[in-house]
Amino acid sequence: MLDAPRDFGPAPRAAVHSADYLRFLETVHGRWVDAGMTSEHVFGNVHPGRHMSGLPGNLLGQVGYYTADLACPIGPGTWTAVCAAANVALTAASHVLEGAPQAYAVCRPPGHHAFDDAAGGFCFLNNVAIAAQSAVAQGRRPAIVDMDLHAGNGTQGIFYRRGDVLTVSLHRDPDDYYPYFAGYAEERGEGDGAGTHLNLPLPEGTGDNAYLAALDDALQAVRAWAPDILFVSVGLDGYEHDPLEGFKLTTVGFARIAQALGELGLPTVLVQEGGYNVPDIGANIVSFLDGFMAGRGA
Ligand SMILES: [Zn+2]
Repeated sequence: MLDAPRDFGPAPRAAVHSADYLRFLETVHGRWVDAGMTSEHVFGNVHPGRHMSGLPGNLLGQVGYYTADLACPIGPGTWTAVCAAANVALTAASHVLEGAPQAYAVCRPPGHHAFDDAAGGFCFLNNVAIAAQSAVAQGRRPAIVDMDLHAGNGTQGIFYRRGDVLTVSLHRDPDDYYPYFAGYAEERGEGDGAGTHLNLPLPEGTGDNAYLAALDDALQAVRAWAPDILFVSVGLDGYEHDPLEGFKLTTVGFARIAQALGELGLPTVLVQEGGYNVPDIGANIVSFLDGFMAGRGA
């Protein structure tokens, strides 16, 4: 069944992202135009380093503060688009929370690199985090598995000090790949979240079999957590012919990965993240969804 997204209003966004960041994201393009900036899109040119944490009032300073890198230009339609993407994820989650066994959220832009107060890596609002938080608000116990090529650093950051959501990410080793500054195996959560995050970094060129072996470890952690709802950040950029050239996953490999996820037998919300081989992405997501349903025994 295909379904159009519903508008859940500002509350689910505010349950994950800080009020000042949301205000920035909604208003910054207008401020950029009013200030007479010459580029069409909002770009930062200075970012706080590890030893600075001040929040300035200045426009360029704020752009640097609220964006983690230069891969998140903000245009006149960004706010509308990111709210729509979050509503797509929330709509899928609502179906599953109301009893559907699974739903697939076709989100654009993606979300897993967005922190509670920062955009980055094509991501502005963290769709999967917003959807998972909507499940927490209903007393559910979610696990999030991120199988995008890149570490789900934003999702990791949002739940890192919380003990109510398990987050697991399989990805290309950040030692030599974006997002570089997170996604390492020793990052396991802190405070109430200690032990509730798992990173499984994998080397360049990882193929189906090695990936599936790591996925076994991920799924073991999920089973140990005993969630009652599963969220999956579905990235197809680990594809062997993806222009990002990170992994060597095949179209059939995506079906095998999804089958293993489906075999968990959990109510599941699949949320689209990356994937940059546009001609093949359709075949890859169909393979993924078919594999998932095969894992369901369907
Ligand atoms: Zn990615």
